[in-house]
Amino acid sequence: MIRDENAPTLTLPRGTGEGTGLPLPRSAGEGRVGASSVDVVIVGGGMVGASLALALSGNAVSTLLIEGVAPNSNAQPSFDERSTALGNASRRIFEGLGVWPVMAREAAAIRTIHVSDAGRFGFARLNAAEQGVEAFGYVAANRAIGAALWRRLSAGDGIAIRMPAQPESVEVATEGVRLAIVNEAGKREPINARLIVAADGAHSVVRAAAGIDASVEDYNQVAIVANVAADRPHEGTAYERFTPSGPVAVLPLHDGSRGIIWTATPQRAAEILAFPDEVFLRELQTCFGWRAGRFVRVSRRASYPLKLTRSAAAVATRTVLIGNAAQALHPIAGQGFNLGLRDAAMLAELIVNASGDVGAPELLAQFAAWRAQDRAGVIRFTDGLVKLFGDERFGVGALRNFGLLMFDLAPPAKSALARVSAGFAGPAPRLARGLPNVR
Ligand SMILES: Cc1cc2nc3c(=O)[nH]c(=O)nc-3n(C[C@H](O)[C@H](O)[C@H](O)COP(=O)(O)OP(=O)(O)OC[C@H]3O[C@@H](n4cnc5c(N)ncnc54)[C@H](O)[C@@H]3O)c2cc1C
Repeated sequence: MIRDENAPTLTLPRGTGEGTGLPLPRSAGEGRVGASSVDVVIVGGGMVGASLALALSGNAVSTLLIEGVAPNSNAQPSFDERSTALGNASRRIFEGLGVWPVMAREAAAIRTIHVSDAGRFGFARLNAAEQGVEAFGYVAANRAIGAALWRRLSAGDGIAIRMPAQPESVEVATEGVRLAIVNEAGKREPINARLIVAADGAHSVVRAAAGIDASVEDYNQVAIVANVAADRPHEGTAYERFTPSGPVAVLPLHDGSRGIIWTATPQRAAEILAFPDEVFLRELQTCFGWRAGRFVRVSRRASYPLKLTRSAAAVATRTVLIGNAAQALHPIAGQGFNLGLRDAAMLAELIVNASGDVGAPELLAQFAAWRAQDRAGVIRFTDGLVKLFGDERFGVGALRNFGLLMFDLAPPAKSALARVSAGFAGPAPRLARGLPNVR
């Protein structure tokens, strides 16, 4: 392999590996890949990277997954306090990966979606049965998603894992990728790969090492996440309410409680986070209203500053970006992970069906082309919603009101949105269509 003298060398803080509960997967040196040369190295075993690793397992592709933080650690940034709304395409992908039956035990079906604008009459309601589907999607706790993925990874074959570990340096050249990884004990290991996949989140170090720029737009909003109990059953209804300070989503959870994502300005979010429980519940009720009943209890809260991070390219020499490393979105429409999972499914499909070099420029160009429409469409849709519903100029509110009313009355518009939310803009990966990965 020719060393690229311009390749950046990265020095990173160590991850943490503490935690209990889950059986931990194979560690360094175990698995089918004993040597330090692999076809694919995935950096980041969060929701998207772990899904890609599973989609590649059991095939004739040697894969190494590097993750900085154990999945059962409190410090794990992907499998944390949040719940994720999974579209039907994501459900099918998880079925194909053999993890859905476990996840389904801890998922609540979304059968109705109710969208409204605070202080206005217009609202829209989408009903799954009217659209001819059993559910629009499912809400699952991120920890449950992580547990299902990593249990399967630890039981599956063909994937070598280094965890907790992270790349210390990444050098990308036309002939291949060379990494030095370092584990928790400070032990270094050189790895050669044909392809490196950046699944290491919005602040991707692999993206930087590949020399791909990312633009960051700060929405100046913070999402506050918590679970609340209400005095009324949720009956599978997900609510999105747009308020002057930002949207509030109330999602059904499998234990009967609701997951809330309450968006506010950073200053207001700091106040909300500091409220005693009863004040928090009162303020939430004032902001959201009574359509979900009376909120009676709230869990611990977590917060996330919201930004749109967009990579300038999806691929570079022997490098592919997937999930948040490629695009990190506002959670307003619950699309970020669903989009990232389709990235993973499409990439796995191309890799397992490739007849030659899995890092070849043609394969990467094909991946970029197949994913372009879905990515651009979902980013535009999500960013457009944030801006439309954040715009308080005279007339815009009335237009929104009219739009929501019209939407509620127009079945074709509803069906189109239901299809887009299910993940069918542009070519869909085979797994998302319920087909096996291998053609
Ligand atoms: C409040 C909120 C609610 C959301 N709700 C939804 C929703 O309902 N539906 C939806 O589709 N999406 C939702 N999203 C978006 C979704 O959470 C993300 O799109 C998803 O987490 C992206 O997963 P990822 O694996 O790409 O990145 P991450 O979740 O950021 O995971 C990155 C992984 O890489 C590891 N890592 C990072 N750096 C290194 C390194 N140097 N070496 C080794 N490992 C490393 C990390 O430890 C982590 O495991 C929401 C987001 C927010 C903020």
